[in-house]
Amino acid sequence: MPADATVVDAGGGTLLPGLIDSHCHTSMESLRLALRFGVTTELDMMGYWPAQQRRVAAESDDLADVRTAGMGITAPGGHPTEYAPPEDDDFEGGEPSNGHGDASDSPDFEFPFCSTPEETVRMIEQQVAHGSDYIKILIEDGTVVGYPGLPVVSDEVLATAVKEAHRHNRLIIAHATKADAARRAVRAGVDGLGHLFVDGSHPDLVSEIADADTFVIPTLTVVSSALGHTGADFAADPRVSAKLPPAWLESLRGSMNVYPQGRLEDALATVAALRAARVDLLAGTDTTAPMPGFGGMAHGASVHHELQLLVSAGLTPVQALRAATSTPARRFGLTDRGRIVGGARADLLLVDGDPTTTISDTLSIRAVWRRGVRQPAAA
Ligand SMILES: [Zn+2]
Repeated sequence: MPADATVVDAGGGTLLPGLIDSHCHTSMESLRLALRFGVTTELDMMGYWPAQQRRVAAESDDLADVRTAGMGITAPGGHPTEYAPPEDDDFEGGEPSNGHGDASDSPDFEFPFCSTPEETVRMIEQQVAHGSDYIKILIEDGTVVGYPGLPVVSDEVLATAVKEAHRHNRLIIAHATKADAARRAVRAGVDGLGHLFVDGSHPDLVSEIADADTFVIPTLTVVSSALGHTGADFAADPRVSAKLPPAWLESLRGSMNVYPQGRLEDALATVAALRAARVDLLAGTDTTAPMPGFGGMAHGASVHHELQLLVSAGLTPVQALRAATSTPARRFGLTDRGRIVGGARADLLLVDGDPTTTISDTLSIRAVWRRGVRQPAAA
């Protein structure tokens, strides 16, 4: 031990690797909030991240680290452009890098739609040049997001996207919320599904996912919210509410309620079936911004909610913890984190109690370190 080392008494506690949110839409401020909850890495699944902001996030030890897909591939008029204000044909403006399909602050920005293989090749080239760590493609007909009838990418575009992403040594993750879309994505060879399919149970698809070694980010937090369950019970935990700014707390107490016809029991059963089939499960939340349409989630906090939901789906607490640490690190090639081993980044979370038996103990945060820098206690 170095002579100037700081010795921390962790008696009565458990030291965990810093948590990873494998599906969110983040911003500099949200990275700060995430770190407060021991989430040391956020994987942004679509957003606009200029190189300058990436550098600041990488070097600032008071922010969670970030990786990003950059902009996603979608059909002209496809998801998520239905969120744009109706008068805004080009989907211009908006706050940079804080949400689903967020536009850049450039006045001539247009959402990069893909309707042909050629456009897809060009788009992926551009995304990689802009620093995308992985590629995101959206296959969403709108049923589950409250806008039925949206156009989706063609099989040609999907096949090209997979081929090009892999040619650039990037993973490709598909947004799919229904079994038919998920099946298309898996058969096309995507590396991961960014959501659970929530339109009933599909044992045949679970087998296909297992055979293809596709990973799944179930995002039970957003699924629960979409089905109309609010985050109010979770937000009532003082270990959650005490750390959240008022706007986030209010947002967490809400729900999206865009797919009330779905059933949470089905989603939990699908997660159990995926687990039984030994599919890699990654904890992700789909947290975006504290806006009415995105209720039920908050950066950082919701990763703990996701862990609780994964356990209620039948994962053991240790399996759930792996979903937020070593499994995303392995699948996303983040070889310097996700485990407590010599030589890894000292991204660490010290909690009271033992979350390997009581998952909610992850919220009893005693200390958080990013790259060995201890965070000041949250006010
Ligand atoms: Zn998302």
